Formats: sequence, C-alpha cells, structure tokens
Amino acid sequence: MTTSRQDRFVENERLLRIANEGLRKRVEDMVEPNQSIPFLCECIDETCMARIELTPKEYEMARSDDEWFVIAPGPSPPRRGAHRRRRKSTT
Ligand SMILES: [Zn+2]
Repeated sequence: MTTSRQDRFVENERLLRIANEGLRKRVEDMVEPNQSIPFLCECIDETCMARIELTPKEYEMARSDDEWFVIAPGPSPPRRGAHRRRRKSTT
C-alpha cells in the first residue's frame, strides 16, 4: 500500500481532530466552563505527545475554522522543535 507523506499528515490530523472532538464531548458536561482540558496537539508529527490546555469553549472556537489546528506552543513539551519536520526525509 502506498500513501504519500502528505496523505499521512492529513490522515493524522484528521484522527487527532476526531480524538479531540470526542474528548471535548465526553468531558464538557463534567468540567467547569472555565476549566482547561489537555487536548492533543494537532501538529503533523504523528509521534508528538504534546498537550494543549484549552477549555471546551476554546477548543470549539478553534474547531470552527477548518484551517485551524490546535498546536502546542514551543518550549514546554520535551519534544522541542519536532513541529517543523514537515517533508524532511523524502526519497
Ligand atoms: Zn505537536
């Protein structure tokens, strides 16, 4: 099976969105409106384990635009710099 790297990035982002949306739906009735939830980083790195703390509302706002992805800010996660590896190793 051959999938281009671009396709895999898109697929990865799609799965992350589904996971995050599911998380939001599960917890939004259980948390305070201003309570932050650790959403998964939606960057293209499929091994990225970063989390972004957002309230369900904030996540919903980010989700309202298809071009927006929730991506963890730089320095705090251990995998610093991992977010800029797009198309590094093409053969
Ligand atoms: Zn990430």
